Amino acid sequence: MGLPGHHRTSSHKRRRASHFALTKLNLIPCANCKIKIPYNMVCKFCGFLKDIKKIDVKQFKKEKTSTKTKTK
Ligand SMILES: [Zn+2]
Repeated sequence: MGLPGHHRTSSHKRRRASHFALTKLNLIPCANCKIKIPYNMVCKFCGFLKDIKKIDVKQFKKEKTSTKTKTK
């Protein structure tokens, strides 16, 4: 069974834990539907990225479901 090699002081523990915090996502409102989405990502509700339609969400969802049924 593993044993601690050295005594770990409370300050050592706290200094290590100072890097554990999660960073907040940079969310911006979508140009088309105003839903908050991560910066530089295509909106998954309308398929827009900075005023330009990138993907057809309805068609994309259909393709996704059809590929799932094919594999089963
Ligand atoms: Zn959108």
